[in-house]
Amino acid sequence: MLAAIAAARNGHKVVLLEKNEKLGKKLFITGKGRCNLTNACDREEFFSQVVSNPKFLYRAFHAFSNYDTMNFFEELGLSIKTERGNRVFPESDKSYDVIGVLKRELERWDVLIRYHSEVTEILIKEGSFFGIRLKNIKEELTGDAVIIATGGISYESTGSTGDGYRFAKALGHTITDLHASLVPLHVKEPFVKELMGLSLKNIEINITSGEKQIYRDFGELLFTHFGVSGPVILSASSYITPYLKKQEPLILSIDLKPALTHEQLDARILRDFEEFKNKQFKNSLDHLLPNKLIGVIIRLSLIDSEKKVNSITKEERLALVNLFKRFPLQITRTGDYHEAVVTKGGIQVKEINPSTMESKLVNNVYFIGEVLDLDALTGGFNLQIAWSTAYLAGISVK
Ligand SMILES: Cc1cc2nc3c(=O)[nH]c(=O)nc-3n(C[C@H](O)[C@H](O)[C@H](O)COP(=O)(O)OP(=O)(O)OC[C@H]3O[C@@H](n4cnc5c(N)ncnc54)[C@H](O)[C@@H]3O)c2cc1C
Repeated sequence: MLAAIAAARNGHKVVLLEKNEKLGKKLFITGKGRCNLTNACDREEFFSQVVSNPKFLYRAFHAFSNYDTMNFFEELGLSIKTERGNRVFPESDKSYDVIGVLKRELERWDVLIRYHSEVTEILIKEGSFFGIRLKNIKEELTGDAVIIATGGISYESTGSTGDGYRFAKALGHTITDLHASLVPLHVKEPFVKELMGLSLKNIEINITSGEKQIYRDFGELLFTHFGVSGPVILSASSYITPYLKKQEPLILSIDLKPALTHEQLDARILRDFEEFKNKQFKNSLDHLLPNKLIGVIIRLSLIDSEKKVNSITKEERLALVNLFKRFPLQITRTGDYHEAVVTKGGIQVKEINPSTMESKLVNNVYFIGEVLDLDALTGGFNLQIAWSTAYLAGISVK
């Protein structure tokens, strides 16, 4: 949509082909229906949040930055607001309004929108684009250039079914390994089912493969019926997929009390044990843990749950401290594409001209957005990648 607007404003006659019955089905579900359309951070922070190929994006971001995105939407009459973590949303909290202003601008510039129009093939003659073929229609559409914005393969029901990867491959492009990213993680331990729905704030996670530390973060985690989710886990998923592919066992340890050292935590537990000295172990952790977690911690501690607190040995107590500091889970896999916010991997960016988004292999074919091997963390960064690359392609089309 943005690429079509930029090209039309630049004097081109543009046709937008959408296979769905409406525009922006994925945009509609972004930000839980509120559309976190960009992030009001500075340039350095923006690039620190781009996980794959940030350097490739320098020129696109320069051409259309996060601040350009905000101005663009405000000029179209969309009021926006900035929330915690610099996340930018429409004032109305309705993603629908973002789609609405884009649609109005497309109409204002006479972009012809064709719905139910699934492109099946990109047609090339002598190394240059000359047309596209549509599904179920004998018709071939010819034109001077095509901008391919077909997205990744997550949440397929929105229309992002990976068609762009097939088009690119047929044109000779390399598609890097694809992974579901910004996605919950599955773990081996069946006890997570008991913890389903429990949210832990202010915890630290450490992900290791053997001796090697792969990821460390601080924040909020949520237990699900098969594993873990929540902000720290979605971000972690962005970094660990290559290791999972190598089938390396990955251990996720949760520090339930990151603000306390081992010694401080031991002193804290001792204080509680003093208070509850005549109670059973199972009734002594109320001050330290949420209710749902107590049963699981007791089982993992291997201390008899009925044992009187005053007969717990120092060794048992120190093992308990360790368990609080390194609550261990084994990651088995990431969730599927249908629950992934983005697809990691895509068209190899060194085959695309970063100053225009044009293919280096075929003339007048441009690729933008998630179909490229670009992805970022949550916070409005993935849509900003789409906006920046779209605008640059739109103004670059010859
Ligand atoms: C649940 C969820 C929430 C998200 N929330 C946010 C958020 O708040 N902020 C953020 O920055 N990012 C968010 N993202 C990520 C963001 O939505 C995507 O990165 C972004 O939409 C990618 O844009 P795109 O234009 O490349 O592709 P898409 O938005 O996937 O659009 C691709 C379009 O191409 C059409 N299409 C595909 N193949 C064909 C074909 N052959 N012929 C014709 N049309 C075709 C599709 O129907 C679709 O309309 C979220 C993603 C999900 C799944």
